[in-house]
Amino acid sequence: MSASGARDGASLLESLRAAMPPGVLLEDEAAAAPLLADHRHLYQGRALAIALPRSTAEVATLLAWCNERRIGVVPQGGNTGYCGGATPDESGMQLLVGLQRMRQVRAVDAANFSLTVEAGCTLAEVQQAAVAADRFFPLELGSAGSCQIGGNLATNAGGLNVLRFGMARALTLGVEAVLADGSVCSHLRALRKDNTGYDLVSLLVGSEGTLGIITAATLRLWPRLRATATAFVAVPDVAAAVALLARLRVAAGERVNSFELLPRSALELALRHIEGLADPLAAAHGWYVLCELSSFTEEPLADLLGQALGDALAAGLATDAALAANERQRAQLWRLRENVPEAQRRAGPSLKHDISVPIAALPGFVAEASAWVRAHVPAGMLVAYGHAGDGNLHFNISFPQETAAGQLAREEPVIRRAIHDLVAAHGGSFSAEHGIGRLKVGELERYAPPGTLAMMRAIKNALDPHGIMNPGKVLAAGGQGGETPGGH
Ligand SMILES: Cc1cc2nc3c(=O)[nH]c(=O)nc-3n(C[C@H](O)[C@H](O)[C@H](O)COP(=O)(O)OP(=O)(O)OC[C@H]3O[C@@H](n4cnc5c(N)ncnc54)[C@H](O)[C@@H]3O)c2cc1C
Repeated sequence: MSASGARDGASLLESLRAAMPPGVLLEDEAAAAPLLADHRHLYQGRALAIALPRSTAEVATLLAWCNERRIGVVPQGGNTGYCGGATPDESGMQLLVGLQRMRQVRAVDAANFSLTVEAGCTLAEVQQAAVAADRFFPLELGSAGSCQIGGNLATNAGGLNVLRFGMARALTLGVEAVLADGSVCSHLRALRKDNTGYDLVSLLVGSEGTLGIITAATLRLWPRLRATATAFVAVPDVAAAVALLARLRVAAGERVNSFELLPRSALELALRHIEGLADPLAAAHGWYVLCELSSFTEEPLADLLGQALGDALAAGLATDAALAANERQRAQLWRLRENVPEAQRRAGPSLKHDISVPIAALPGFVAEASAWVRAHVPAGMLVAYGHAGDGNLHFNISFPQETAAGQLAREEPVIRRAIHDLVAAHGGSFSAEHGIGRLKVGELERYAPPGTLAMMRAIKNALDPHGIMNPGKVLAAGGQGGETPGGH
């Protein structure tokens, strides 16, 4: 059938059924329903069909079939993404491809400190495979039990250990992906050094399903961590937090693993809405830091952290601190931090901004953006928390449960523009770790330099000339000058 041919959903579905081995298509409507809405329930899509391939060869057959017919393809991992990237549009003419059946650990090479896994393995399964080989895979997100490694790579996920180990791209040695025409780009080499032309692995990582479907990856491993020290520290303000980070890095070098910032409002949300949590400090403070040191060898990290925090208290950079005395206390401190998103969800609607600025610019940005919110959003409560060690804050605003959806929808564009303009003025990014998806296509068009956008479009055109891969995500649909597959 040609692109201009009749787009009859029923006959397309018949043709797809005939092209695929039995069992690839998910025909159970109840099982399909949760896959058609995004995690935040911002988008509700429909699909021509949902395919759950079991092998790279089946993914290749699916994509070749779609490419021939100009059918849009939406890859989906664990569906935990925050930007609607894994949800099909409303046309009912796109194919959703879920990777959850591709979850083999293909190889673990402890001597090479690497493993090769299929895209549908959850992040937790990858972490466990590393531990089983006495190794450590450092990617860590609150969604580890449900997000998939393919989705982590597709979004270049960040998380809690970026300060020391980098984002998903830095943890990836090789990728196997199926491109739009069904060809397989197999680049699973486990090499630390490989200067043979363009870096295609880095290109596919972070492409959010718009250049191909990642089917497997070779990942870097580290020795298992033998020691950690974790502290919950009250700081007078954001500037003190930034100065504390610099001190810790000078004192402990690369052992500084995590450095998370929380305002009192985030702590209170977690205490109020999540069972079994307690304030680690006796008095209330405006800002907190959750920091952790880690080491690959047995060493007295608690002493090192205690000494550094003592110096910080004396210098006025900290006002109180609680050091985890054992693994249970450490886990409790992390529960406080990791439950902030869930507590915020339970508290009511919120507007989220996943921003980053150079670390030194954090205090200025937070002061200016907070002042703007106080002046213009009286009903909102600022909950600006996150991976401050990476200059990344989730600059979120929570609203009372009874806030009308219509009111939020009206205010959101104005608030987003003000905050993202301030981010840009501070040399920052409007999407630090969650990607673009569908949600931030307009923001990329607005803030990316024209040359950057032109290069992205040229790459998209070259690898996906008919624009079938995740249409309308990252780049505007049709922006590549081609057709608009799958009902756009
Ligand atoms: C509680 C919670 C905490 C979180 N914490 C963090 C955090 O700290 N840091 C962070 O970065 N994110 C975080 N996230 C967001 C989310 O978990 C990450 O973006 C994650 O990497 C998405 O993986 P996924 O498998 O769920 O992908 P999905 O949501 O299914 O998809 C995300 C995007 O990737 C594409 N995609 C998925 N799989 C593939 C594939 N195999 N090949 C090609 N494209 C694919 C999709 O089309 C979509 O565009 C959090 C989410 C939750 C719910």
